[in-house]
Order: sequence, then C-alpha cells, then structure tokens
Amino acid sequence: MAKVLIIGAGGVGSVVAHKCAMNADVFTEIMLASRTVSKCEKIAAEIREMHGVAIKTAQVDADIVAELVILIKQFKPELVINVALPYQDLTIMEACLETKVHYLDTANYEPKDVAKFEYSWQWAYQERFKQAGLMALLGCGFDPGATQVFTAYAAKHHFDEMHYLDIVDCNAGNHGKAFATNFNPEINIREITQPGRYWENGEWIEIEPMSIHKPIEYPEIGPRESYVLFHEELESLVKHFPTLKRARFWMTFGQQYITHLQVLENVGMTSIKPIKFQGTEIVPLEFLKAVLPPPDTLGENYTGQTSIGCQIKGIKDGQEKTYFIWNNCDHAETYKEVRGQAVSYTTGVPAMIGAMLMLKGVWMQPGVWNCEQLDPDPFIEQMNQQGLPVQEQINQPLTVEN
Ligand code: NDP
Repeated sequence: MAKVLIIGAGGVGSVVAHKCAMNADVFTEIMLASRTVSKCEKIAAEIREMHGVAIKTAQVDADIVAELVILIKQFKPELVINVALPYQDLTIMEACLETKVHYLDTANYEPKDVAKFEYSWQWAYQERFKQAGLMALLGCGFDPGATQVFTAYAAKHHFDEMHYLDIVDCNAGNHGKAFATNFNPEINIREITQPGRYWENGEWIEIEPMSIHKPIEYPEIGPRESYVLFHEELESLVKHFPTLKRARFWMTFGQQYITHLQVLENVGMTSIKPIKFQGTEIVPLEFLKAVLPPPDTLGENYTGQTSIGCQIKGIKDGQEKTYFIWNNCDHAETYKEVRGQAVSYTTGVPAMIGAMLMLKGVWMQPGVWNCEQLDPDPFIEQMNQQGLPVQEQINQPLTVEN
C-alpha cells in the first residue's frame, strides 16, 4: 500500500520499525534511517529474524535539510515518521514540504539551547502544509498522543462538557539499574527539571519543579507517588477543549530516581549551558547522556508494568459524571514481542497507528494536526488490536482525587 521512511533508530524508532513490519499490508516498503547507520542495521537484522520482513536502512543527519531531501527523493516515501529527537522536527518538516511528503512525530519541537515546550513553532506550519495538500500529525506517541485520543474519545462518547482532566502516567517497572531514563535522557531530564505548570480557570499556574505530589492509585499496580509536571499535550488540549476548568499531568518517580536527579542537578550535570572542558566546549547534560544507559538497552531484564490514562470529570445529560480510560503495558511482554521496553513500545505503537490511519486515508487531511482533533474511534480500535488494550471505568471514584 505505502512506502514509509522512519527517522531515528533509538528505543522508539526500533519499536516503530518492528510494528510497521508486522503490518506489512499497510507498510509495504520500510526504510529506517538515522545518524548512526549501524543501529538501523542491527534493528533491520532483528526484524528479518523475528518477522521475516526485509527493511532498508540509510544514514542521514536530520539536522540538515539538504541531506534529508536527497534521501527522501531517492526513496520516495509517502510519509516520514520522525522518531529522532525534538530538535529535528522543523528540519524534517521543511524537507517534507520540499519533497511533498506527509509528516508525523511524537514530540514537539524544542530549540537545543532553551528547554521550551510549546507548539508555536510547529503550528506556524499550518498554512504551508494545507496549501501543499500535505498532512503533519504532531505528537502521536502515548503522551502526547494516545492521551489526547483518550480525551477526544471521552468528549465524543461520554460528556456534554468536560471540566477536570488529569493525565496520570505511571511506570512501575524495574530495569535493575541504579539510574536510567526510559527515553532519551537529555530530553527526559530537560522536561522534568523545568518548572511545573498546569491549567486552572483560564490560566497557567507555574510551580517549582516536582513541588506538587501525592500517591495516586494505578490499576493492577497500587499507589505510587506522582508529581505534577508540564507536559506538551496540555497546551493543545486546553485549546481544543475550552470547557476544561483544570488540566494537569502527573508522572510517577521512585525515590531512588529523584535522589540521583537531585545530586546530578546540584553538581551541575543537568545544565544545558556549554562549559569549557580541557579546551573543548561541552554541554554537561549531553555528557551525562553519554554515560547513562541508552533507553534501547533497558529492555532485556525489565519487569513490571506502565499504566497511563486520563481521569475526567464533567457533565452528561445534566448529571455529574466521572470517566477513566487507560492502558497498562508489561515491559517483559513488549520485550518478547519487539525487543523493546514498555515506554518505547507505548510510544512506538501509537506512532505506527497514526501513520496507518493517515496512509489508509482515515485520518488523512491537509494541515497540521494534534491527535485530539481527529476521530478517536479508529485509533482506539487499532490500539486494542496492536498490543495496547484500552480499559475504561464509568462513574467510579477517580483515584487522582483521593
Ligand atoms: P533515543 O535517544 O533512544 O533515540 C533517538 C534516535 O534519534 C537515535 O537513534 C539518534 O541517533 C537519532 N538522532 C538523533 N539526532 C539525529 C540526527 N541529527 N539525525 C538523525 N538521527 C538522529 O530516543 P527515544 O527513541 O527514546 O525517543 C525518540 C523520540 O520519541 C524523542 O523525540 C522523544 O522525545 C520521543 N518520545 C515520545 C514519547 C511520547 O509518548 N510521545 C515518549 C517517549 C519518547 P544516534 O544513535 O546517532 O544518537
């Protein structure tokens, strides 16, 4: 049916490549390209062995539009799935416009020198994509991504008006390492060392990093200490669902993780300001990334589950209603299926599903879109079929309120 180019061969890129290969009726030709081609080749060999599918590989520096354009013109995909880093979003979008190819990513653009999370840069591409007759789907992982689909599904089927939204993200897994991040360490640490932010009564409330926290009960897991963070999907959700009086994002962290992070912060290792070291300029956080375990190496002995969902309160037929929709995912199971841990899996599977819905024409429309703007039903249907079963609970107490 369609050719797809996947850019980025880390934890998420590997899962996307596996899952596309497992849906070979839609993704008839797959190329995996990244900065380090040996990583693409390793994944390609695994895919051949596990699923009997041959995929192509290539080397590309996605910071350079001209390199991307040459590769896209050679391979001629219909869609580029960008699962490199957020720094590459705009160069890849530019290359897609130049070569007339659709675009999908899983994280919003961030400039390298300031940790700033907002959609403004990418929303600015709206007219150019529309006029070119091309689609760009932004943030189609789990969070962002599936959490917005969950919210849109709640709005479509369960509420006349949604008032309170809490996105609750728990990783109760154990990888046996003293300290590691489950996705790209640089991006992860930039995100959680920023001031937190949530939406209340029409404005953003800014808080000290990790200063609001409490135990939240997660299905099949139990209570876990959860922290309010800013997460990018809040920005588009409060824009597209203006009845929301409050929208927050909670994520769990273990005490061991927080203690390591505090020490690293206190000694300056999480800074993104360049310093001189033995005559060379280095960024401390980039150096830290180089010594931490890469996310794609955590899978082998990872046990336990992730649980990510949306707890929503609002009005239906004049009555107050509560609704909770979530997915639990098991690290060991995902490793068996695609050699990846559950954080990479819960990101990569939604990216594949978004790509599938675009290529099948179900979600395809010109312009720049966030996931909650599209019909949630076919996406939820695919989550149930592709390894991310969705569960729901209606009118039960919301555990975020305990
Ligand atoms: P990794 O660090 O494991 O992988 C990133 C990959 O991108 C590496 O293969 C890296 O290449 C490649 N890359 C980096 N820079 C370039 C470049 N200039 N040109 C070409 N390739 C490049 O990260 P993850 O797989 O964990 O994360 C991938 C993306 O997914 C990130 O944007 C992350 O924010 C996002 N994400 C989204 C989530 C969601 O739910 N929406 C959750 C988790 C992650 P090299 O090997 O050479 O370094």
